[in-house]
Formats: sequence, C-alpha cells, structure tokens
Amino acid sequence: MSESQPSDDSAYHTAQAQLRSVGAMLGFDQGLIEILAHPKRELTVNFPVRMDDGTTRVFTGYRVQHNDARGPAKGGIRYSLAASIDEVRALAMWMTWKCAVVNLPYGGAKGGVVVDPRALSDGELERLTRRYASEIDIVIGPMHDIPAPDMGTDARVMAWIMDTYSMHHDFSIPGVVTGKPIEIGGSQGRFEATGRGVLFIAQEACKDQGIHLRGASVAIQGFGNVGGVAAKLLSDAGANVVAISDANGGIYNANGLHMDELDKRRLPGGRFGDLTGIAHEAITNQALLELPVDILIPAAIEGQITARNAGNIKAQMVIEAANGPTTDDGDKILAERGVYLVPDILANAGGVIVSYFEWVQDLQSFFWEESEVNERLRRIVVRSFDEVTAVSRQRDLRLREAAYVVALQRVGDAIKLRGIYP
Ligand code: NAD
Repeated sequence: MSESQPSDDSAYHTAQAQLRSVGAMLGFDQGLIEILAHPKRELTVNFPVRMDDGTTRVFTGYRVQHNDARGPAKGGIRYSLAASIDEVRALAMWMTWKCAVVNLPYGGAKGGVVVDPRALSDGELERLTRRYASEIDIVIGPMHDIPAPDMGTDARVMAWIMDTYSMHHDFSIPGVVTGKPIEIGGSQGRFEATGRGVLFIAQEACKDQGIHLRGASVAIQGFGNVGGVAAKLLSDAGANVVAISDANGGIYNANGLHMDELDKRRLPGGRFGDLTGIAHEAITNQALLELPVDILIPAAIEGQITARNAGNIKAQMVIEAANGPTTDDGDKILAERGVYLVPDILANAGGVIVSYFEWVQDLQSFFWEESEVNERLRRIVVRSFDEVTAVSRQRDLRLREAAYVVALQRVGDAIKLRGIYP
C-alpha cells in the first residue's frame, strides 16, 4: 500500500474521512479542506544509536506538525514498532482538533520512533531519546512545537528531551516538553490527567444519558497511563470495573475487579492472566470489547472497533480514551445501532489540558497546587462536553460529528482570519 493510499482501517484514512465529511458539512471551500488535509510540516529522521553490545543500529523517527493556526503545535511522542509516517500524520491531525475542541491556544503535532522501548536497556533508551531529540531540535521549542508522552514514552523520556534541548540552547527550557517530572517543571496532576479527564467525561455523559455511574459496569481495554488511571478513578467513583486488559490479554469478573487488590498483586510487567488471589477469568482483547457492559472504554491503541466487530458491541456507551480506537466503518455501524459514543478528541483531552497548564506554569515559573490543576481541568472538560452536546442537539449530530464541528469551526475561523501568506 502506498503512502497516498492508506488502507481503509488505517488511522490516516479515518482521520481524512472525518475531516472531509465535517468540512463539507460546515461548507468549507475545497482550498480550506486541502490545507487541513495536509500536515504543515513533516520531518523524518534516520539516526544511529550505539547499542550496549557495541553494534550500531539505525532508527527511524518522525515529527509532524499538522496545523499551527491557533498557536504552537502540541502533541505526544510515541515509541512503537507500529509507528509510521501515516500514523503520525493522523495523530497530529487529531491533536489539532483536540486542542481546538477544548479551546486551548494550540495547534496539533505528533512524533514517533519505530522502536520497541521494552527491548532496549535504560542506557540505549536514553541514547536513542537524546539523539532523536537532537534530530528534531530544529522543529520543536516552547513557542513552536511542544512534545509530551504518548504510548511507549513517559516522564523520564521527557526529562531527557528537556535536558538535551536545554543543552543545545545553553539554558534550562522546561517549556519545551510537558509531562516532565515535577522536579524539573512538571505539573501536579499531569500523570493522572488523561484518566481523570476520562472520569469527568464519564460523569457528564452518564448524567446526560440518565445512567448512574455508581454501580455501572465498565470494561477497559489497555492498562497503561490512561486505562490504568481511569480504571482506578472510576472504581473510586463507585463504577464496577469488570474487565481490564493489556497487550497480552485481560481479565474479567462480572461482579467487579478490586483495583486496590490488583495494584498490590500485579507485578510490574506481569501478565494479568498470571494473577493469583483475585477471582477472574482470562479474556482476549476482542472478547473484552464485546462484553455486555454499560460502558466500554478502549484505552489502548487505534483501530480496535471495526466493521468486523462493531455489530457485536453490547455496551450502551463507548468512551474513546485511546486515540482513534474506532475505524470509520466501525463508527458507521455503531451510529446505525444508536450506540452513544464520546469521541477521542473530547474524551481523552484531559492530558493535553493539563499539559497546557504545565506549559503555562513553566512560562511563568509559577506553580499551582494539585487541587487547582484538577479543578481547572474539570471546568474545561465540563464546559467542552456541554458545548459539544449543545451542538449535537442543535444540529442533530452524534457527539463525534459535533466535536468535529466545534473543532473545525475554530481552526477554520483562525485560518480565515489569518489569511494566506504572503
Ligand atoms: P501506555 O503505553 O501507557 O499504555 C498502553 C496500554 O495499552 C498498555 O496497557 C498496553 O499493554 C496496551 N496495549 C498495547 N497494545 C495493545 C493491543 N494490541 N491490545 C490491547 N492492549 C494493548 O499508553 P497510554 O499513554 O496509556 O496511551 C493509550 C492510548 O491513549 C493511546 O491511544 C494514546 O495515544 C492515548 N492518549 C494518551 C494520553 C496520555 O496522556 N498518555 C493522552 C491522550 C490520549
């Protein structure tokens, strides 16, 4: 498959289809749609890393800035063997919409390195990160493009990027990345922010749909930063988390899984299936998605709900905590079946909202209490949910289209107001 013809289930195909359908709905002219269909800037880097055994390996990385009409580009960096330029392009476009739908003064970007970070030693990971940071130094910066963690990267990786960038520019520049450790300019509440945003969304969506979150059954695919935190916070809020999974599969108990017990018993990197002392049955990721639950939260990777399984989804509410977990075809089937779905750009925006708070704090060198961070996060999530829900009712649209209408309108207005240079 060539780069210009992504497969129908690819993230890039989904992102392009969404743009064109909502752009047409908003009456955007072809020129505006073409601007938005193309990332503004793309950088591909191939760079060597010295491995522990003395050999040299060449890795490929990307940084794509989709659009910066509303402010500096913002988006995470993913370390994954599946990373590709098309995937990074799609993720960068979604970041533009995500920042716009929650009204942050940012455009969208994304980065990726084709690597399995778990296969590297700490030293190899640090050398890879510092070299990748050096290669993308020419396009990132606190006023240009601000990376953050995504799948396969974390606060430690952000610390190395911040340090590398600061070394190159001769002074400490904490605002070049977000999701850093607190000690070097990170924000209180950033680690939990995406999962906490998912909790706030679940609370608002349940209120809207007349569902009691307390006691509602929830299945969560993915148990990393997003899924793991969301599972814990939802469980603390009284929801009945009945299934969770990671890349190796998951566990299910119709009576609920005790998150505190799970935390105590699960070894780092251990498989859910090997857990002892917690009543459960093993379950595949596919079966998890099709469980008879009130709320399904895909929180792992894209392309999980497709034309193949969308007809079997039994949850009445889907909250997309991952980016792009539903393909375009899968989404159409869910829509026909009347499944209430909160789209990714709204459901998982908590991370970028608190990243924005982190950046603001770094630029001002003035740091906030965690309670202030969480309360400000709640206000933005609730306001954004209300705005999208209002558009959905006014225009008789599903929440996904409504979120895109809000986001594309804001980005389109910014492009039109700025005009075309020169
Ligand atoms: P992570 O690396 O911390 O965790 C990912 C989880 O998904 C792990 O439990 C992993 O085992 C599991 N997983 C990987 N491949 C899988 C597969 N094929 N099937 C089932 N599970 C699989 O990543 P994360 O930061 O939690 O990100 C998860 C999703 O949320 C991604 O789509 C990411 O883009 C999105 N997201 C993350 C943030 C953030 O702040 N971290 C913000 C917004 C959106």
